[in-house]
Amino acid sequence: TQVADPKPIRRLDETLINKIAAGEIIHRPASALKELLENSLDAGATSIKVTVKEGGMKLLQIQDNGHGIRKADLPILAERFTTSKLSTFSDLSRITTYGFRGEALASISHVAHLSVVTKTKTDSCAWKATFVDGSLVDTKTGQKSEPRPSAGNDGTTISIEDLFYNTPTRLSALRSSSEEYSRILDVMIKYAIHNPSVSFICKKAGSPSPDLSTPSSSETSTSIRLLYGHSITKELIHSKVSSARKQRKDDDAMDEDDEERDDPESWDAEIYFTNVNYQAKKMVFLLFINHRLVESPRMKRALEAAYQSVLPKGTSPFLYLSLQIDPRSVDVNVHPTKREVHFLNEEAITEKIADTIQENLAKQSHSRTFEYQT
Ligand code: ADP
Ligand code: MG
Repeated sequence: TQVADPKPIRRLDETLINKIAAGEIIHRPASALKELLENSLDAGATSIKVTVKEGGMKLLQIQDNGHGIRKADLPILAERFTTSKLSTFSDLSRITTYGFRGEALASISHVAHLSVVTKTKTDSCAWKATFVDGSLVDTKTGQKSEPRPSAGNDGTTISIEDLFYNTPTRLSALRSSSEEYSRILDVMIKYAIHNPSVSFICKKAGSPSPDLSTPSSSETSTSIRLLYGHSITKELIHSKVSSARKQRKDDDAMDEDDEERDDPESWDAEIYFTNVNYQAKKMVFLLFINHRLVESPRMKRALEAAYQSVLPKGTSPFLYLSLQIDPRSVDVNVHPTKREVHFLNEEAITEKIADTIQENLAKQSHSRTFEYQT
């Protein structure tokens, strides 16, 4: 048999490349919202209001009271790899803010109509800009243009309209608006729990009352009660765990020196988890690593297993874990969406957290036996 001739290699069209890249970051309205929430939190917002039409497919708007964007930066805002959070390669491993590659807004501009109204506290008015395929354009003429003066408060309002209007396969992969809306609420609930000092509001456009509303300057346990209900809060245990080295440092504050503080293997975790009295059908697991909502199916499985001997079969706990590790030990490039992470000493850290949970659960059952005896 004869081997076929090779076909010529051709370069993909630029807009196609950008759409493919965008599709890896923005899967659905909730993933766009996650990026936008992180940007608002990075900008120091204490109030975040989200308005949604048709599950975010028609409109997803987020208004914050953060530091705003400088007018001079608006022309490159939605270009790929433009960011105020990273300037050298070594920053990439040290970055502490949430987003870091300057791809979110660019991606959104390739798969939706994106507009931004922003005002810094030194601006005399707000500025509005609309973006198509990474560039600031006039929506009427489609030509490159300049930001226009507009009314607006300090902070930033970002509107995403007609998500995936130009990528029909993506659009058809979405579920009903109510399903997409519940995913939006789920992301907001998780960020609201993790940021109890920030007020979050989420509503459908035209609806008189919000579906989610949290006060600012609240506390974690209050937020959990508000968003997940009293049945969880009354069975909740709160604990802190950290690496051995870190603990030693905390115990003896005098010993603190720069070398120890710079230890890439030191870590800190705060956990809120239910005791054996709480038995849900499905595990609720909130995992934040360095303040980013991420997924780690392995960690979830391992921590759920810590309950195996104490919970009835087929029931699961609620667990919220906020883990802080040295940014150098997170593998941020493992997945383009940056959601599923891997990090240094993942197994050891998971094990230590699981041990802490088990110790606490054991203490609880011990004290209950004690109660029965007296
Ligand atoms: P990244 O967050 O990775 O830097 P993005 O595309 O999400 O990339 O955002 C690009 C830049 O736009 C950010 O670095 C930030 O300077 C600015 N920005 C985006 N959203 C906001 C916001 N809500 N408030 C202030 N600045 C913002
Ligand atoms: Mg970002």
